[in-house]
Amino acid sequence: MANLIPMKNPIAEIDGDEMTKVLWKLIKEKLLLPYIDLKTEYYDLGLLNREATGDGVTVRAAEAIKRLGVGVKCATITSNAARKTEYGLKNLFPSPNGTIRAILDGTVFRRPITVSCVKPTVSTWKKPIVIGRHAYGDQYKAAEMRIPGPGKVEMVYTPADGSAEQRITVADMKGGGIVQGIHNLDESIKSFARSCFLYAIGEKLPVWFAVKDTISKVYDGRFKELFAQVYESEFKERCAAAGVTYFYKLIDDAASRLVKSEGGFLWACKNYDGDVMSDLIASAAGSVAMMTSVLVSPSGALEYEAAHGTVQQHYYRWQKGEKTSTNPVALIFAWTGALAKRAGLDDTPELAAFAKKIEAATLKTMEEGKMTGDLARLASPAPSHILNSWEFVDAIAGSL
Ligand code: NAP
Ligand code: MG
Repeated sequence: MANLIPMKNPIAEIDGDEMTKVLWKLIKEKLLLPYIDLKTEYYDLGLLNREATGDGVTVRAAEAIKRLGVGVKCATITSNAARKTEYGLKNLFPSPNGTIRAILDGTVFRRPITVSCVKPTVSTWKKPIVIGRHAYGDQYKAAEMRIPGPGKVEMVYTPADGSAEQRITVADMKGGGIVQGIHNLDESIKSFARSCFLYAIGEKLPVWFAVKDTISKVYDGRFKELFAQVYESEFKERCAAAGVTYFYKLIDDAASRLVKSEGGFLWACKNYDGDVMSDLIASAAGSVAMMTSVLVSPSGALEYEAAHGTVQQHYYRWQKGEKTSTNPVALIFAWTGALAKRAGLDDTPELAAFAKKIEAATLKTMEEGKMTGDLARLASPAPSHILNSWEFVDAIAGSL
């Protein structure tokens, strides 16, 4: 076909499971393949293929993202005991997202897609708030102990080089209680800061970073210090050139400013803060199906995906023949994000413009009151009728 939009280089295409796999095929068929001479390196991360390859396919997919610079990923099942029975698996492999994140040393940024018919819970928010979550250490790699009765709890560091140990008292416990030891690594914090500044420069968003260094002078203090160091030594000029500002705030101050703000910034969060805040922002902004997610590696490689899972219950209904009203918007934006990034790297403005066109057509369709059930429940005014996924994608294709 003569007039398909050409692509210079491929993107890593990472297929997944259940309802999102069904939508994946639909999006490609209706919104991409009729218009683009799509070039991808295809990796099937469906549960059975992960099993068949001893999870090797996950590692190869992550390496492809690194090599090609851009990937797009469908949602995948994280195997557990129930899935082992359901799919007759021999092994349980770790979460593919965890494996890919570890290989790319990346940070996940979650950003809501907004439409005017769904008002955010916080009325002052005019622009999306993006959360960047440092996904290493702190409470998520903690050593914890139940303390049965009175006694001293100490923290001991034994240097690998044999020099003198360091020891401090955590608490002289007067009775039974609990204790937790957490850690983080300078290199991981610096990678996190780099990913945040790279993302913010790409998206032209101000960066907020907030911890509680007035209370946690050494631990949170180190976070604050390393963030400032990475900014000053590696990003200050690039940020200035892109018009990106950097603010450090105390976390409680940031929380109170957040609800009075207009939005439109990146909030870089420590692991636990990011866990809580990303869910808070997601539900305040609307449906989980309207949340996109980008994994940013400090090397600059990016992986785009929807923040939601495989929408298991819809899949079982689809298998019984139902045309479900599953929302494909975050998956569509994962594709457009990846295509726009590819276009930016390859300097192919035609492809960049088409990615924007798909996004505009998707938003326009919803603004016209054509949407899936999850969004219809939140929309005001309520739409006249709810579309199933196939009708919704057809409406977008029609608008394209
Ligand atoms: P989920 O797939 O996100 O779905 C939870 C519920 O949220 C759904 O039952 C549905 O609610 C609603 N929902 C989510 N996405 C939707 C969409 N696009 N359109 C309409 N409604 C949507 O989470 P889960 O059921 O906890 O997890 C299912 C599987 O996904 C698990 O095996 C998990 O391991 C995997 N998972 C993968 C990823 C990933 O790969 N990034 C992330 C999370 C979970 P209603 O049923 O009320 O309509
Ligand atoms: Mg959470």
